[in-house]
Amino acid sequence: MSEFQEQIYRHTTASATRSWRERRGRYLLEGTRCKKCGAIHFPRRTVCSTCNSRELEPCRHPATGVILEANICWQATGVHFGYGENIPRISTVIQLDDGVCVLAEVTETPVEQIVPGARVEMVLRKLHREGNSTWMYGYKFVVVS
Ligand SMILES: [Zn+2]
Repeated sequence: MSEFQEQIYRHTTASATRSWRERRGRYLLEGTRCKKCGAIHFPRRTVCSTCNSRELEPCRHPATGVILEANICWQATGVHFGYGENIPRISTVIQLDDGVCVLAEVTETPVEQIVPGARVEMVLRKLHREGNSTWMYGYKFVVVS
């Protein structure tokens, strides 16, 4: 029996290669900017969604923004394998200061402060536990005002 509360019966990371490729987005909020039309993307893309150009460069998004919507999940269900030790999960839509919207969790904040319009700042935290018991880290946000 595992030392963890939750037994995970499948791998939560579909591909270790994909996870490795997306690490800069997960750790640094790095997406891409089109050199032709200036469109910005997050997560990163290989082709611009506006002009179909392949001339994209890395673009680091700001680590601050505001909450647009928030939802609190108090139970880990079948679709949440790997998240059972991080309950409650507070899933939000956050608009970063450059206008890009990201889906992210808010952590270390009293529930009553997690409302639309609250200012947030990115932090690096445990996201979920994978099938081999290791933790995947990535961005979450905390309310700063
Ligand atoms: Zn473009």
